[in-house]
Order: sequence, then structure tokens, then C-alpha cells
Amino acid sequence: MGHCRGMTYDVVVIGGGPAGLSGAVALGRALRSVLVIDSGTPRNAPADGIHNYLTRDGTAPAEFAVTGRAEVERYGGEFRAGTVTAVEGGEPFRVTLDDGAVVTARRILVAGGTTDLLPEIPGLRELWGHRVLHCPYCHGYEVRGRPIGIIANGDRTMHAALLWNQWTDDLTVFANDVFVPDAEQAAQLAAGGITVVDGKVAAAAADGVTLSGGRRVSREYLVVQTRLEARADYLAPLGLKPVEHPMGIGTHLPMEDPTGRTAVPGVWVAGNVADPMAQVITSAAAGLAAGAMINMDLITASAVPGTR
Ligand SMILES: Cc1cc2nc3c(=O)[nH]c(=O)nc-3n(C[C@H](O)[C@H](O)[C@H](O)COP(=O)(O)OP(=O)(O)OC[C@H]3O[C@@H](n4cnc5c(N)ncnc54)[C@H](O)[C@@H]3O)c2cc1C
Repeated sequence: MGHCRGMTYDVVVIGGGPAGLSGAVALGRALRSVLVIDSGTPRNAPADGIHNYLTRDGTAPAEFAVTGRAEVERYGGEFRAGTVTAVEGGEPFRVTLDDGAVVTARRILVAGGTTDLLPEIPGLRELWGHRVLHCPYCHGYEVRGRPIGIIANGDRTMHAALLWNQWTDDLTVFANDVFVPDAEQAAQLAAGGITVVDGKVAAAAADGVTLSGGRRVSREYLVVQTRLEARADYLAPLGLKPVEHPMGIGTHLPMEDPTGRTAVPGVWVAGNVADPMAQVITSAAAGLAAGAMINMDLITASAVPGTR
């Protein structure tokens, strides 16, 4: 279904990652007019390939985006490159982009994802997604058995150590002046053959780390626990603000029900912005669920006499 410029879209989807694209496909297939606005910086961009997505194993994130966009377009969905800076109103919502353009929509699907905040250690950012990893389900198999070092940077260090030890017998934890295992943890680490190296990590490189005293410890891969921040500041005019995630891993936009409904009528969320733990396949699934519910919400609204 074509869309006339200047008219109100049924749905504007903010974010063209797995969650947003999947929601847009569901809505397009429901004959809804859809605009996807995307700033083009998905979270997994630095990764070589997507893993744990059945039938898509190893697909490059950029290829996934191209294929996903083509599927959205097949069902009439439109795209616009840009960054949403504000969403205002109720129906119709006014969506402002960074170039000053404004588009309107009856419903909003927020799928802007999350930002990984890395510890402030020189060298980490450059290696992120290749030599610096966070998620064993994303990368663990590819680095199995290799020398891996976890840089402690919060209270999830023990969890990370036990988890990554499943993939390698050569695991070091850099205590980084924040990790002090208690007796039980020390016994668990010893039982797993995990080495703890004391001292602050001053710099990271592709071949290991340099401690603040100058000592170098070689490692092929480094692991950090990132802080995940919801990319959703543009919803402030609606009164929707990211809150701390209950697991202490960052911020997210809470859902009012499992389909991604938010506290603001007409606004749904899907993917990492709502659930920072979501993988690609679960983010896509959330987009589909939200898209289907938005379609039903529009049907219900139209079924009220005088509103169609
Ligand atoms: C290094 C790395 C490797 C990973 N590997 C895997 C893996 O192998 N398998 C797996 O299942 N998961 C993996 N993940 C997790 C995966 O990246 C997420 O599950 C997935 O990206 C979530 O999809 P999403 O659609 O919610 O968000 P994203 O993919 O981050 O997409 C959000 C989109 O919204 C856009 N956007 C944000 N704000 C705005 C705005 N204001 N206006 C317009 N557009 C906006 C962004 O540019 C982006 O394109 C990995 C993550 C990282 C960091």
C-alpha cells in the first residue's frame, strides 16, 4: 500500500534493527502504512556474524539488515535514514528527526536498541566486538579453548568467570582493583582452574593487557561486562524515561505486558530497548509480537463507531 507524503502513517517504527524490521514486516503484511526511521548503528555492527539465530548462523549484521529491509519493502514499508530526536503527542504522534523533518503516526513502535558502555580502559573500544567480547552465546564457540581474560568491572565478575569457563580451560580474571573473591568464590575459581591476576588494568591490546605497574599479561581475547543503556531519550516529551533494569545491568524501557505495550497508549517497545538481554532472534520475535498487537489496537480503535 502506497503512502502519500504528508499523510499520517499507521505506524512509525523507530529503529531498523531486528526488532524494528520484524515489527515492520508484521505491520506491512497486515496492510498497514509503516515508516521505519533508522540511524544505522545497530548494536552488533562490529561483530563478524550473528550466531544463535536458527537458519541465519554466521550472517553478517549488515547483510541481515539489507535482507530485512528488502522484506519490509516487499510489503510496502518505507525507510528514512535519520535520528529521531523527539516524539510528542498522542494520536497522531509527532515524530521529529535530526534534520528538522516531522512525520506523524497513529502508533509508535520503539525499537532503538541499547548502547554498550565499555569500561574506560584505553584500547578496549577499538577491539570491541572482535577481541573484546561480552557474550559467550554470541562469540564463545568461535573462541573456544583460547586464552581469554575477563577484566573485572562490577559485581558480575564471578558470574562471567564461571560462564566463560565453559568455553575455555585457559581463563584469567583481571581483578582490576574491584574484584575481591570471598572464600567460597576463591574455592570455585580454583576448582575451575581459573587464575586471578591482581592489579589495575591500565590498557588493553589485541595481545593482552598492561597492568598499572607495567606488567604485561598476554591474552588472545578479553571479556568485559558492559553497561547497557536504552536509546530512548527522544521519548522524554511523552513522559517515558528509561529506568534501571532490575538485574543491575543498565537501563531499559519497562513493558506493561509481554507484547511490549508501554504506559503511554499507542506506544510499544521491542528488542533491546525493553529487554537488554534479548538476542537477535528474541528481539525479532518481540518486534513481531508488538507489530501484531499494534495492528489489533488499530483494528479495535477503528471498530468504535465514528472513528474509522
Ligand atoms: C558485539 C556484539 C555481538 C553480538 N552478537 C550477537 C550474536 O551473535 N547473536 C545474537 O543473537 N545477538 C548478538 N548480539 C546482540 C544483538 O546485537 C542484539 O540482540 C540486537 O542487536 C537487538 O536488536 P534491536 O533491534 O533491539 O537493536 P539494534 O540491533 O541495536 O537496532 C536498533 C536500531 O535503532 C537505531 N536507532 C537507535 N536510536 C535511534 C533514533 N533515535 N532514531 C532512529 N534510529 C535509532 C539504531 O541505529 C539501530 O539501527 C551482539 C551484540 C554485540 C554488542
